[in-house]
Amino acid sequence: MAKEGLHSWEKLPLGCSVPEAGSAAAYNTGDWRSGRFPFTQRESCIKCGLCYIMCPDICYHPDPQAEGYYTWDSFYCKGCGICIHECPKKAIVWKDEKEEEEYGSACGD
Ligand code: SF4
Ligand code: SF4
Repeated sequence: MAKEGLHSWEKLPLGCSVPEAGSAAAYNTGDWRSGRFPFTQRESCIKCGLCYIMCPDICYHPDPQAEGYYTWDSFYCKGCGICIHECPKKAIVWKDEKEEEEYGSACGD
């Protein structure tokens, strides 16, 4: 029996494909994250923008409050860790999901 809010396998599209083009914004891919989230230590960031370019869910956006830095969007971050792997300065680290409130936007000042 399917849990509330989940679809049974019979209702999923073939191959779990996404049949409606342009619908990515409707999916809360942040729900897929489990136990940890990426946190940017700005004191180590060189503003190269690789996290912005490499994130498959476009979770990083230029920070209008701090030129050259990036903010992070927990709604879409699925926790794949690509940003952590690609950051040339190891400025992005895992933090325990329980700490998200403490760290706010998950970008240090
Ligand atoms: S990839 Fe790392 S160094 Fe580059 S902008 Fe992102 S956090 Fe900063
Ligand atoms: S963990 Fe993955 S989805 Fe989340 S911000 Fe980094 S690259 Fe994007």
